[in-house]
Order: sequence, then C-alpha cells, then structure tokens
Amino acid sequence: MNTHLIWYRSDLRVHDHPALKTAMHEDARVIAVYCLTPQQWQRHCWSKARLSLALRQVQQLNEALAALNVPLIVVNTDSLSGIPDALSELAQRFEASKVFTHVEYEWNEAHCAQQVEKKLAQKDISLHSLHDQCAIAPGKVRTQQGDMYKVFSAFKREYVKCFRGHSRDLGATPEPQSSIEVTSDLDAVQPLLDDLPEFDDWPAGEEVAHARLNDFIDERITRYKDERDFPDRDATSQLSPYLAAGILTTRQCLHAAMNVNEGELESGRKGVDTWVSELIWRDFYRHLLSSYPDVSRHRAFKPETDRLPWKHDEALFAAWCEGRTGYPIVDAAMRQLCETSWMHNRLRMVTAMFLTKHLFIDWRWGEQFFMQHLVDGDLASNNGGWQWSASTGVDAVPYFRIFNPVRQSERFDPDGAFIRKFVPELSELKPKAIHWPSEEERQRCGYPAPIVDHKQAVAQTKQWFKELNDERATQDERETA
Ligand code: FAD
Repeated sequence: MNTHLIWYRSDLRVHDHPALKTAMHEDARVIAVYCLTPQQWQRHCWSKARLSLALRQVQQLNEALAALNVPLIVVNTDSLSGIPDALSELAQRFEASKVFTHVEYEWNEAHCAQQVEKKLAQKDISLHSLHDQCAIAPGKVRTQQGDMYKVFSAFKREYVKCFRGHSRDLGATPEPQSSIEVTSDLDAVQPLLDDLPEFDDWPAGEEVAHARLNDFIDERITRYKDERDFPDRDATSQLSPYLAAGILTTRQCLHAAMNVNEGELESGRKGVDTWVSELIWRDFYRHLLSSYPDVSRHRAFKPETDRLPWKHDEALFAAWCEGRTGYPIVDAAMRQLCETSWMHNRLRMVTAMFLTKHLFIDWRWGEQFFMQHLVDGDLASNNGGWQWSASTGVDAVPYFRIFNPVRQSERFDPDGAFIRKFVPELSELKPKAIHWPSEEERQRCGYPAPIVDHKQAVAQTKQWFKELNDERATQDERETA
C-alpha cells in the first residue's frame, strides 16, 4: 500500500484541511509530520504566546488525528533549512511516494517549500502544495489587466464576485483510516513548552476555536459594526490567534457569517457585512504578500517613503514599548499588549500612528515589537497594519489624516474604563480628566509628562511627507518633460 505524508505547517487542524482531505481520499496510509524550528521562530520574532499556542495545538492536533488513526511525528529541525533533509528521511523511512502540504506565502517559507520539493524529487517523491490560507487563492482576484488590486474596496468587490463562484460546502472531515503500525512521536514538544509561561487566555483546540466562533456569531456579530471600536467592550471575535495558527480558517469564518446572512457575504446586515469585510482585509494582505515578496523583506510598498527621516531613538521607543508616553490611551494599549499578548484593533492603529506620526520612529521597529508580543503575530496582517498606519503602504491612510490620541480616547473610551484597567495609577481620575490629566494630576498620580507635543509633532510629520511628495512631483514632471 502507498504511504502519503502530510507536512503540517501553520495549518494545525483536521477540519477544512485540503491537504489532509486530499491525502486521505487516495488509497494510501497517511502519516502526519510537524517540524519544530526554534531558531526560525526566534528570527521571525514569534512571541512566547504565539509559540505556546502553536505547541499546545500540536498536542491537540495529535489527539484529533488519532481519532482518524493518523499518527503524528514531530521532529526538531531547528531552522527551516533542516526541513528538506528531515522530510526526505521520513519519506524514505515510511516509503512514502507523495508529500502533501499547504502553500505559505512568506518568502522564507516559500523558499523552504521549493527546497523540500527539490530534495524529494531526487528520491522520486512528489510534493503537492495546496492553497489553504485564503478563502480565495492569491492570484485569483485580479484587475482586468491581470494585476493585483492596490485599492481594498476594488479588491473586495471582485473578491465577493469570485466567492459567489465558489463551492458553499466546506466538505466533510475525512473518515478514519484503518489503524496502522506507526505510532505518534511528540517527545520534542513538551520540553519546549516547559520553558514557556502559561497563557490561559488562549486555550488550544479546534473545539475551543469553534466554540468562540459560534459564540461570537450568536451573541455579538449583530452589534459588531457599532461596538467594534470600543476597546473596553467585548465586541470583536478575538479569533485572530486561532486564524494565525491555522486552527481555524477564513473559509470557516466566512461560512459561519453567511449562515446568518441569507447565504451571502453581503446582505445589508451591517454587523455581519462589516465583519466579513475585516476577514477580506486579512486575505487582501495575504494576496499582497504573495504578489510583492519585498513585504517579507522589510521594504516599504512605497519605496520613496524610505527617504523620510525616520528616527531610531532608543529612549523614545522604550517609552512607547513600556507604556510611558504620557498619553493615557497609548500607554493603556501598550500595557495591554505586554500584559495580555493581544491588542484591540482600534488601539493597534492609535499606537502605530503614535509611534510613526508623533515620534516619527521607523515603522519597522514597531512592527517587530508587535510580532515579539502578539499572540496573533502574523507577517501579512502585521506588516499591512503597520504600513497602513505609517502611510507607506498600499491603500494606506493618507499621511495628513493623523489620529489625535486624546480625541480617540474620548471617543472610544468615553468613561476611561479601558485606561483605568491598564493604567491603574490614573484610576482615581474622573472621566473628563483621564484622557489628558493636568500637570498637577500627573504628579499626584505618579504618571509621566507627555514625551511629545501633539500639535508640533503632527505639523512636523506633515511637513516631511509634503516635502517628499513635492520632491516626487518635481521628479515626475522632469521625467515627463
Ligand atoms: P475581529 O474584529 O473579530 O475580525 C475578525 C478577523 O478579521 C480577525 O481575527 C482578523 O483575522 C481579521 N481582521 C480584522 N481586522 C483586520 C485588519 N485590519 N487587517 C487584517 N485582518 C483583519 N492581525 C493579525 O491577525 N495579526 C497581526 O499581527 C496584526 N497586526 C496588526 C498591526 C497593526 C498596526 C494593525 C493596525 C492591525 C493589525 N492586525 C493584525 C489586524 C487586526 O488588528 C487584528 O486582526 C484584530 O484586532 C484581531 O482581533 P479580532 O480577532 O477580535 O478581530
């Protein structure tokens, strides 16, 4: 009997798993493999929370696969470069003829898959890479000229059209195979987990992810549009860590939304339509990553923005990282990130814009700090969010639309409840004062003075962007003259 290997990557689940489905559909015994790459995780700045969730999910995955009689073999290859040899060895050991996996769009991961394919081909073993991470595969949503869309609204229109042509059925999870003599080996996982703190807020398991999805759809999706910007309300799904680890798919989320949306992605129900739109943003950034590999290499989408005089000021950066900027909403958000490994979307925008448009610190520093701390750290969405906020990206916020952190705080945390939770030294202040305490109140509460003046900083930032734009316009004129 043939043997097929499934090479698991950021797709740690058994439901809605195209590679598992395809491999088990063929007449072959199936064995799953997962490679631990601690050195790579460090290079890619994976946070401890994200790593812990992934490792605990590998253990859960083993149990879910056991119900299908599929053993899981975990090997420690240290870095991505060790994966081709490890997979080739395992394929030979189990006399496998095919290896199934899912495409990953990040540059290093894509390069690794090419190396695996080459190595396996030397032994006459084929690698089958299926699309999985997006509900519509990158490359399928194109302008009439065949290009990638650079404006989200146009991308979304075409995406919704393409999605209509897609099957509405997620397909059943495969039936168990007959039991085989190979046993699972997860010995390498626990020692890595033992070195990490516990992250109780993010339990692993597909059941947990689906319970959270169902709870959101039943309880909160209808008020999502109206309440999603208020960080103190439990109004968003908090599913991003499960999506990042591949415990849940965008397809499953879209299907759950369609079930309460007359079977459509858009039906005029504000809450559902807005949530669907956010999920499409996620795919948009992945499609961009796949079309523009430079995203994986710390480059700006608008290369000319690298000529802006971005600062590399360690002291200002440390104040931002540690929540000591003297802007209460910014500090509350940064402390939320460091204490819980998660940050509310509105506050990701507020803090990113504060770092780039008030402190004028290189957006790449902020991007890296987020990756080091977020439980949902994900190159495509994180880079997309940072380049949107810094006005260096595709369909980014215009450079002159700079959030005023105090106005944002008054609007989205009107009672100051969120600030009180994460900046307890300000908890005695009344709602009116908490967004911008007086000098006397700051001294009394032991809270720092602002590290930057909003008006001056914003004026300077606009000036720098304007000079860059003028310079570009002059250059364009010269080129067309
Ligand atoms: P919900 O509001 O319930 O949305 C549902 C899902 O849609 C999310 O889980 C997420 O997968 C997707 N989504 C929502 N908003 C966005 C968005 N703006 N861009 C892309 N996808 C979105 N998201 C990450 O998953 N990982 C990151 O590393 C990340 N870094 C970010 C950095 C910055 C500076 C900014 C502005 C945004 C970033 N985001 C990132 C996007 C967004 O903030 C999170 O996806 C969202 O806060 C997760 O919370 P939720 O699951 O409750 O989202």
